[in-house]
Amino acid sequence: MPEADGTFSTKSAWNSIRSSHHPPDWVSSLWFPGHIPKFSFTTWQAIQDHLPTKDRLTFFPINSDKRCLLCNSETESVYHLFFSCSYSAWIWRTILRKISLRKNQRKSFGEEESWIRKKFKFKGQSGCLSRILFTSSIYYTWLERNCRLHDKIKTHKSIILDRICRVASRRVLFLKLNEVNSRIAQIWNLPLFHSQSESRFCQWVLPSQTKLKINTDASISSDIVSLGGILRDSKGQIISFFSVAYDSVPFQEAKLEAIIRAVQLARNSQVKNLWIESDSLNAVHIIRKQWPCPWRKFPALEKLHRDLISLNSRRISHIWRDGNKAADLLSKSNCICKGDPIPLSCIPYDLFVIALEDSSGTLYPRL
Ligand SMILES: [Zn+2]
Repeated sequence: MPEADGTFSTKSAWNSIRSSHHPPDWVSSLWFPGHIPKFSFTTWQAIQDHLPTKDRLTFFPINSDKRCLLCNSETESVYHLFFSCSYSAWIWRTILRKISLRKNQRKSFGEEESWIRKKFKFKGQSGCLSRILFTSSIYYTWLERNCRLHDKIKTHKSIILDRICRVASRRVLFLKLNEVNSRIAQIWNLPLFHSQSESRFCQWVLPSQTKLKINTDASISSDIVSLGGILRDSKGQIISFFSVAYDSVPFQEAKLEAIIRAVQLARNSQVKNLWIESDSLNAVHIIRKQWPCPWRKFPALEKLHRDLISLNSRRISHIWRDGNKAADLLSKSNCICKGDPIPLSCIPYDLFVIALEDSSGTLYPRL
């Protein structure tokens, strides 16, 4: 079939010989922005009933035992293995409860997929979370079944559930999706990402009277990583600050390193109640032990936790980059001072102005 202008192309040849169909509804459950390929592939095999479950291997005389490896009682089929087996049903029921759904009896794998797809309509963070939970529970249940079959290793269902929940919450955090359901965010310990229309501005907030607040940041220029931090009191007055050019930290870890140095500075300043703020959600979650720490930073992170525990009170939070201007300025100052605080008499004029704006509650547009 030629193109509209009469010419032939590879595309027109391919379109003339192939048969095209509408994709099935379940495609959106498997392939979506942020999907994890190995999870989606295993789920695709399960939906098509292409996984080599024991009920499909009746033609092979070597496989005489058809019992499910997870419960060791009923015949192993796709639906039984993932949804009606006492082992996997407990996992799936617990997951559904965590996303505010109650499990009812359904008859097939397709019905289960269709039900959860219609419940969430796959929009926003809740829909993404439900799809990742669905595909990851299929993957980890199948993995557990294979471990029992080939390696004779059994894992308790609560550990499998924990793996599924961890991978799902990490994925949703990584995607930073909007339209989060606040109840689900609370249950899954997810941050509330607001849609841009709701939060076009951000603000630096003063700490309470008994606390000091330290903001940190890192930047990179000509392969040199620079760190910055600023300690302020409940009136927004500058207590101390630092700006360090530091070239041996991979930039991905620099914002974490900036927090570590900031806590050292606060400890040296005899601070007892500290609020740490960074514009790196990654670093905040690593310190809260919600995300894995790069192995190189293990010793430093352990020391940081010891330092934090020694404080009377501590808080760590995320601030939008546009509200973290003071620390951002310091991280771009390229001031090589070996980590020592800079004397207050040397406060740069720009930093003084930003600190004044911050303490007066200026709303900064989010760019
Ligand atoms: Zn079973």
